Amino acid sequence: MRKKIVAGNWKMNTTVAEGVELAKAVAAASSQVPSQVGLVVAPPFTHLVSVAEALKGSKVELSAQNCADKEKGAYTGEVAVNMLTSAGCQWTILGHSERRQYYGETDEKLVEKTKLALAAGLGVILCVGENLDEREAGKHFDVVTAQIKNVLYNFTEADMAKVVVAYEPVWAIGTGKTATAEQAEEIHACIRKVLADKFGAKVADDTTILYGGSCKPSNAKELFAQPDIDGGLIGGAALKADDFIQIALSF
Ligand code: PEP
Repeated sequence: MRKKIVAGNWKMNTTVAEGVELAKAVAAASSQVPSQVGLVVAPPFTHLVSVAEALKGSKVELSAQNCADKEKGAYTGEVAVNMLTSAGCQWTILGHSERRQYYGETDEKLVEKTKLALAAGLGVILCVGENLDEREAGKHFDVVTAQIKNVLYNFTEADMAKVVVAYEPVWAIGTGKTATAEQAEEIHACIRKVLADKFGAKVADDTTILYGGSCKPSNAKELFAQPDIDGGLIGGAALKADDFIQIALSF
């Protein structure tokens, strides 16, 4: 039985003090969330050590928003996977559309990052999703299928135990426009089929696939009721502990 997860991507928001306060509020409220629902928060790099401390004793796990595609050395401004684990991370988000769009993140780089993250023992939340032009041209299934194949087809069935996929249509991120439950479900089902083609039905069935894109307390229930939607990657609504927990109570 695959795990349900609600993960909060704080992006480039909050000071360290604000982040610690938010983490403490999420940690305090997390006991309301049923044990079968995992909670993850992804603060900026500068906050990780302090937020790890604030989450101690709660069920909330810690994620980075990105990692370097190199192990260590002269790569100014980058953060390596062993730095993330030593800061207390259990996860890293990879391939967020903002990284793909603004920082030239390619599928090839994502293969390297995923290899390093998995080797370090981190779980990977791999983001995929089409932009508005691709959706309007009816290419969304092809785009998402290619992203999954380009990255995850380089890995093994065993590796997949540590991989979560997040489907985030770019046109729905931070725009207030949510994919309808049907639009999201048909892509999630497609992703599961693409995973099954390579790794078999069992691995595909066991893989958690999250929806992301303007998910909030008012629409989470309908989205999470879909058979292939196993939770959410939450941006804006993750910056308010009450909203984030409300979303996690929407299964
Ligand atoms: C995200 O950036 O991962 C995201 C889903 O953002 P928002 O919820 O704000 O659309």
